[in-house]
Amino acid sequence: MKKIFSLLMMVILTTMITACSSGSLKPKTVPKDDNANIYVEAVPNLPKGFMFGVDISSVIALENSGVKFYSFDGKEQDIFKTLAEAGVNYIRVRIWNDPYDAEGRSYGGGNCDIKNAAVIAARAKAYGLKLFVDFHYSDFWADPAKQMSPKAWADMEIEQKAIALEQFTIDTLKEIGKGGVIGMVQLGNETNNAMSGENKWINISVLMNAGARAVRKYDKNIKIAVHFTDPHQGRYVNFAQYLKNFEVDYDVFASSYYPYWHGTLKNLTAQLLLIKERYGKEALIAETAYAYTEEDGDAFGNTISDSRGQAYPFSVYGQARSLRNVIAAASDAGAIGVFYWEPAWIPVGTDYNANFAKWEQFGSGWASSHASEYDPKDAGMWYGGSAVDNQALFDFNGYPLPSLNVFKYAKNGAAMRENFIDAIPDIELTQLLSAPRALPETVSAVYADGSEQAVPAAWNHAQLDAVNALGDYVIDGMAGGTAIKCYLSIEDKNYIVNGDFEDVNMRMWNVSGSVSVSGHIERRTTDPRSGEASFHFWDSEPLNFTVTQNITGLPPGIYMLAAYLHGDKGGPDAECFIFAQAGQVYERADIRLEGYKNFQQAIIHFEAGESGSITVGFTVKCAAGGWGGWDDFKLFKVG
Ligand code: CA
Repeated sequence: MKKIFSLLMMVILTTMITACSSGSLKPKTVPKDDNANIYVEAVPNLPKGFMFGVDISSVIALENSGVKFYSFDGKEQDIFKTLAEAGVNYIRVRIWNDPYDAEGRSYGGGNCDIKNAAVIAARAKAYGLKLFVDFHYSDFWADPAKQMSPKAWADMEIEQKAIALEQFTIDTLKEIGKGGVIGMVQLGNETNNAMSGENKWINISVLMNAGARAVRKYDKNIKIAVHFTDPHQGRYVNFAQYLKNFEVDYDVFASSYYPYWHGTLKNLTAQLLLIKERYGKEALIAETAYAYTEEDGDAFGNTISDSRGQAYPFSVYGQARSLRNVIAAASDAGAIGVFYWEPAWIPVGTDYNANFAKWEQFGSGWASSHASEYDPKDAGMWYGGSAVDNQALFDFNGYPLPSLNVFKYAKNGAAMRENFIDAIPDIELTQLLSAPRALPETVSAVYADGSEQAVPAAWNHAQLDAVNALGDYVIDGMAGGTAIKCYLSIEDKNYIVNGDFEDVNMRMWNVSGSVSVSGHIERRTTDPRSGEASFHFWDSEPLNFTVTQNITGLPPGIYMLAAYLHGDKGGPDAECFIFAQAGQVYERADIRLEGYKNFQQAIIHFEAGESGSITVGFTVKCAAGGWGGWDDFKLFKVG
């Protein structure tokens, strides 16, 4: 999608304002602030004392790298002051035990040791901001895919590890508490599957209770949180039940919520309400974020860079709506707060080589090369800069975006004086080869306040007329004065059953191969190319599996088999391919893992003989840590 800067927009804008004054298109909120530069729909019934938080754990490393932050009126200013002015009242900071190699070189990711947290705590206190301490209980990143024990605890038995964890927790709180105000503490980070190298709940709970003991001993007024992710998987009740079974002492059940991956807001609210009702725990959104641009600012690729199919435009206004709606979903669940993740992890510069030197020296990238020894499979292969600079609430140069003010306006709402077209999303269409070729006469324009209106679209007829065979096409168009695209798929009768994996019944697919206990090869509602589901795989061990489908009753002729794959970290020797076997004829097409949601297509043409029976399928052979998803298998008769 593209932003609008044209004369034609002025025409549409004028039309829209006229419509507005006649009452057919109203801003959703009453203006509360004539200087508002953002639309924020008021969140009804926001709980008292709601935590408007941000996690800016990397900020000191960024400042050391030369990054400067500015106020809303463009003056260089302490970022903590700017955050406080924008309605932020809480700062989250992650703690790694020892994020350094044997020679004392930082693993990067912001050098998030106790010292870093103490500096952040003191700077936060100066502006009345409380601290939410996020213990990863690891020497580097902890998430559902990795929960490595700190080096110093690696060989300990569970009892010994619990003693060490309790001591580390109390030492850390004492150090941070000297200059800061600790309001809440989190025991482990996204501990869905493990914590601190332990993957059995009986052991995880021993460690969590050791942490809880330390917190209660230090200050009984501090809230204790546990933190999980993937609300769309519906496992929160299981986690809460494990914690109850093992009598873990905590107050708050916290969730991550990233709109690209984690299902609907309605489901998020429902999952958190369930925990509240069944287990009497408070709820919290410990992490959320949304992109405001598809651009990358620091020459190191971003986690999310394609706005196609996403819930809001990748714009400042879309980002603001996402954050506002997460706050509303949290409020609906009676949650105590929402924390935005790393809204200040902006570029340290634009040139890759200069940036790389800074990431290595100051630890201001997500990982440095020095993390390789501790985390060889992930950081060791992919170290670099910020993968979230396009999801920040500051622009690439350190100026606050209007969306930062969502915190300030959430309670009462705000509206700008003017409304205007913010974005026109590209469209995706599937048509049968035999159908007449035509594209929509209008497309939906999204306004800055989130309302939508149809605007006329003009398409490139030469491109459309050239569409005469099965396949995927891109047709250029213009709407509202801006360039748009139609992604057009031309299809025919698809002989593959459940090739898009939307049906939960997977009996037509035969899976051979095995995974470790932590891995999976299965249909999942995770990162589909289309619809809701795809065939997903991941394992901490090397993978080698094949999935096939037998098809009978095919009319003799030439067929085309096509499928899509995305994924990453398969290693240099990864082999992923689709294949088709009809009698003695065997055809195969290889496909590469080119990154998250960067779907690649493989195509095979082959002949089906008189028997009308064929076997089609796909194979994955990849290194430990490899992951990906297959989707949209199609088998068309083309001759
Ligand atoms: Ca980047």
